[in-house]
Formats: sequence, C-alpha cells, structure tokens
Amino acid sequence: MARLSQLTELKGVGPKLADQLEKLQIRNLADLFFHLPFRYEDRSRITAIGSVQPMRPAVIQGEVRGASVLFGKRRSLLVKVQDHTGTASLRFYHFNAAQKNQFRTGALVRCYGEPRRGASGLEFYHPEYQLVENGLDAQLEPCLTPVYPATDGISQQRLRLLHEQALEFLHKDQVDLIDLLPTSWLQQWRLPTLKDALLFLHNPPSDTNLQLLESSQHPAQKRLILEELLAHQLSLHKLRAQVQADAAPAIVASKQLQQALLAQLPFKPTNAQQRVTAEIEQDLQQPYPMLRLVQGDVGSGKTLVAALAACDVLEAGYQVALMAPTEILAEQHLNNLSGWFNPLGISTGWLAGKVKGKAREKALEDIHSGEAQLVVGTHALFQDDVRFSRLGLIIIDEQHRFGVHQRLSLREKGEQQGLQPHQLIMTATPIPRTLAMSAYADLDTSVIDELPPGRSPITTVAISDQRRGEVIERVNSACAPVEQGGEGAQAYWVCTLIEESEALQCQAAENTAQELREALPHLSIGLVHGRMKAAEKADVMAQFKAHELDLLVATTVIEVGVDVPNSSLMIIENPERLGLAQLHQLRGRVGRGAAKSHCVLLYKSPLSFTSKQRLQVMRDSQDGFYIAEQDLAIRGPGELLGTRQTGLQMLRVADLQRDGELLPQVREMAEQIWHQHPQAIEPLILRWLGDAERFASV
Ligand code: ADP
Ligand code: MG
Repeated sequence: MARLSQLTELKGVGPKLADQLEKLQIRNLADLFFHLPFRYEDRSRITAIGSVQPMRPAVIQGEVRGASVLFGKRRSLLVKVQDHTGTASLRFYHFNAAQKNQFRTGALVRCYGEPRRGASGLEFYHPEYQLVENGLDAQLEPCLTPVYPATDGISQQRLRLLHEQALEFLHKDQVDLIDLLPTSWLQQWRLPTLKDALLFLHNPPSDTNLQLLESSQHPAQKRLILEELLAHQLSLHKLRAQVQADAAPAIVASKQLQQALLAQLPFKPTNAQQRVTAEIEQDLQQPYPMLRLVQGDVGSGKTLVAALAACDVLEAGYQVALMAPTEILAEQHLNNLSGWFNPLGISTGWLAGKVKGKAREKALEDIHSGEAQLVVGTHALFQDDVRFSRLGLIIIDEQHRFGVHQRLSLREKGEQQGLQPHQLIMTATPIPRTLAMSAYADLDTSVIDELPPGRSPITTVAISDQRRGEVIERVNSACAPVEQGGEGAQAYWVCTLIEESEALQCQAAENTAQELREALPHLSIGLVHGRMKAAEKADVMAQFKAHELDLLVATTVIEVGVDVPNSSLMIIENPERLGLAQLHQLRGRVGRGAAKSHCVLLYKSPLSFTSKQRLQVMRDSQDGFYIAEQDLAIRGPGELLGTRQTGLQMLRVADLQRDGELLPQVREMAEQIWHQHPQAIEPLILRWLGDAERFASV
C-alpha cells in the first residue's frame, strides 16, 4: 500500500521536481489528488469544420489546401484546411521555413485550438497541431483533458503524468485515502464517494456535460466543496468549544446602574438596542465566556448597547475594557463613556500607544489596582505589561480590523484565577449572512437592525471631477451662516488616495485643504490626517464637534465611528478607489442629525465599468447589508473581510459566493459529525486546513 506521505513513490520524482511541486503546495500523494483541474478541454472528438463555433475550443481534422506567407501588419503563415463540411484557417505569427514546408497541399492535419473570426473566416491562432501521416490515425483522448494550475518548470504534460500515476494507486485501492463522510450521507445527499469524485474530476469521461463542470455544479465537485466547507465549519466549532470549556464569571446584575445611565440620556433605546442588550445579558449570566458579535449598521447605536452591557459587569464588581482600532475612535469612546459613567461614580481609564512615561505608569497602576473600572484604549490595552485587576468583559469595536487570532489572544490576557473575561465584538461592517455563517461560526451574532428615530435619509450623487468648481460652490452655500444666506451646516471633504501610501494621502489632504482655504476664505477649515499627533487630531475633532470649524478636510481616518450630528454634507474624492463597505462607513458620518444630508461622490472620469456599478450601488442604497452583499458580488469575500484575517483565502475548491447556498446544509452536516462521528473531526480539519488551522487555534 502506497503511503499518502510519499511523492517519491512516483516515477520521475526526484528532489528537484519535489521542490517545484512544493510551490504548488503539493507535498504528498493526497495533495496531488486534491490538486484539481481548473478547466477541461475536449479533445475526445473531431468536430466537423462546418460546425465549428467561434470561441469554442475544438479538434478539427482536414486536408491542407494551401499554405502561404502573408505580409500584412505582421508577417504570418496562413494554412487553409478543409474537410467535407467546410474550410478553416490556421494562422501562425511565429514560424520557420520547415514548418511552412510541412503543410504540403493534400497533407492531413489535425489541430486543437480556439477559433476566432478573422480576415479569412474562422481562424485558429497558433493551434496545437499534428500531421496525420499515411492515414495512420493519431489517438483521440478518451476523456476530457484536465488543465491543472501549473507553475514555472512544471508543464501540463508533467502534471498529467504524475496524476495518472497517482490515480492508478487510488484506482486500485493501493493508497490509504479514507472517505471521511458517513456512508449514509452519500445516499441521502446523492454524493459520490471520495474516491469516485476524485477519479472523475481528474479524468471526466468524454460525454460529461462540460457546462455542469465549468459551473462547479457536478455532484463530484459538490462532494468536495461540501467536504471543504464542512472542515472549515468544524474548525470554527472546535475553536468555540475550546473557548466555552473555560470558565467565566457569571454576571448577575440588579440593573440599577443601567437605569441610572438611561435616566441621564435624552433618548430611549430602540427596540433593537433593547433586544440585543437582552441577548448579551443572557450570555453574561453563563459561567463560561460569551463570544458575541453585534452587527449594527453605521449609526445604529452600538455604543449604547456596549455601555449597557458594561453596566451589568461593572455593577458585579468587574472591570470592563473597550478597545477601538484607532486613537481617534478610542478617544471619542472615552469622551462619550466618561460623560455617561463618571457622573454615576464609575471611574474611567485611558491607554493608547501615545500614552507614555508617567502618564502610562499611572494608567497601568490604576488598571492593575482596579482603580480604573472602565478602561478605554487601542490595542495598547493588550500589551504584555498591562495587568487588570478583575477583568470581566472585553468590548472590541469595529472588529473587522482585528483578526480571529488577535481576538482570541485577548481572552488569555484577561484570565484571572482561572476565569476568562466575556467578549463582545461590535462591527459596523455588515457581514453578509453567508459569510457570517462561516467566517464567524465561532461567534454568536446579534443584529441591531433599526436606526434611532429622527434620522433623515442621505441623498447621494456622483459628480465628475471636471465639475469640481460647482462642488466647492455647493460646500460654500451649505456651510455659510444662515444670516448670510447659507445653511449653517458642517461638511466633510474626504481625500482618498492609493490606500498603501499614507504619506501621499496626507499630502493630498494638505493640498486640498490649502486649495479650499483659498477658494472659501470665509469658512473656517480644519484638517485631520493619519500623520498628525493624536493630541492634534483630537483637538481638531473637538473644534469640529463644537462647530468652530465649518469644513473638515480629512483622510479616511474618519472612516469609523466619528459622530458629529450637525454635519450634513460629505464630499468624497476618488470614491472609485474605495471599497463599498468603506464608502458606506464614510458616508455614515453624515445623516446623523435631523437636517437633510447629502453625499457627493467626486469621481475621476472616465470610470471603469465596475466602478460605475459600484457608485451606482451607493446611490441606490443606504442599507449596509444590501451594500455588503453587492460588494461581495463585485469583489469576492476575501477582500471584503481582509483575507488574511479569516482563513477563507485557503478555500481550495469552494467559493463562498458561488456556494453560499450550501451553507445551511454544511451547518447540518457539521452538527451531525460533531455529535455522531466525532472521530472524523480532526482528520477532516487536517485534510482541508492542514497547518493552516494554526490561524484558528491559540
Ligand atoms: P454606531 O452604531 O455607528 O457606533 P453610535 O453608537 O455612535 O453608532 O450612535 C450614533 C449616534 O446615535 C450617537 O450620537 C448616539 O448618541 C445616538 N443614539 C444612540 N442610540 C440612540 C437612540 N436610541 N435614540 C436616539 N439616538 C441614539
Ligand atoms: Mg461606533
């Protein structure tokens, strides 16, 4: 029996080839089995020339009716080929005299390629061809020809030969490749065995429906897709089970603090906020750690939900830590929460990267002694020298910027006397349901699906930068004081540039601020960008909030969380460079007050087709979920979530978008395996995630 671990079982595989295969992640026979063709060619039959269709690859065979060198824009060799149904041409731009002489009139030639309409009718450009000598028939392929993902130095031919050998072992059951799915499933869901699925996909019989294969709908493909998604699901299940095996403080609170907090607010929680708060409280009462994701569209009031959860935990005598991804956002939370909690006798602490020296020592001391009850900060909160006294709850805002891994390392941080803190994760990036089910299967999810009352819709328009002058004029009339015929509103002008270059982005913002100050001398204009000191940024934000500034020129640093209800106009430059989720986040900075709000997408023309589509989505909708679904459709899941953070980039055969509808079935399968076939869990995870599982286990 061949061992799966050994590639050297195969003829012709020495260290050099093994190295090259490594580049394709092929390290053993199993990898070879799972290295599947990404398309197929049908070289199993000869198509009559008369029925060849443009752009449909085909094998044709016919007699040479002449070969001539043409001197057009480029020299080319044109060979006419005819069978009893019609004529086609083969065209070569690279050829030599010997080649030309091969094509003697009357010779029989067979070729494979993709025909296109050309000057002489249907033409095959640089087809693969062979001369059929003396009527000796060259063999047609018995199966569809697989085309494998390849790399430099390994030809298709090489890969096919390796696969042939490997599959021979599989065919004869000489390899220990175990079918990990219960046999009862195969019937129930009409799936082939693993062996059959693999044999089929590497060599589909010539009568296979190619379209079914191309759309990944064939049962053999389904079988593998389901198995892969199942493995991912199980890995997340496992993670969750690990977390829940730990102990956490069961929080029972009298709600007095909550009531006191709510009594100070000028508004009541929405129904959605109340419902989600109740869901969180349920979790907090359990003696194991909560892992809950709260999704709420921009402006849905996640901060209040977090604060209400914090009330219970604080009241029970534990500390609460709130972590935000940027200093601006963390600082805003600090201001907000101090305003709410300090009057209730709860002390707040502050820790960010910029807090240094004495201030940092003091902060650390307060956190360690428990003097600081509610601690707000950036990821600096979770550096090694930070020790909490009794941490009961970690709240992470805008989760999509933290990876699964980071998220899990936090819980160790907070461990005290064998108790782990609860975790609440809040995200404004709506995660399409299909994605949430797989990427976040280790979390429970709550959705704040209602905005506070009194918000007015935002009108969004797309305007070409050729009309920049008009847009500046519009800012002028919106921001000018009412006495001077303006609207007395505030506006954002967001400069975006290529994401990776923060320096360039800041420079662009500085230039724009300068330009606008010259064009609009009566307005007071502020600037905030990522390269400014935290204190400077905070100052500018405070001025804007106090309406000492009319217009704030900013980079995308203001993307998340910034809350200034009086601002009702936003200009976004080069919106075509941003993802939809990011645009939605940015736009969410306006429309927070009662005034009617506008968003101008000031694009650089001409726009590509995709960019047009995307800006159209922004004009059509203000619903974060709809926008995220569209984003997913246009860009794919990796970019949406940040591939490195999710592990989804490792999907080999599945495609979340295409196969999203399988997820309910996958969930059902995962439940069954978990409870009825636990011995299959580890092997499944190992087969599909391999080393990669490290991303998920801490
Ligand atoms: P996000 O979900 O985007 O983080 P915030 O928590 O910043 O939203 O809330 C946005 C604004 O809405 C804040 O000014 C907040 O005070 C206000 N807000 C929150 N809940 C309510 C409510 N139930 N009624 C009215 N305003 C609310
Ligand atoms: Mg927020």
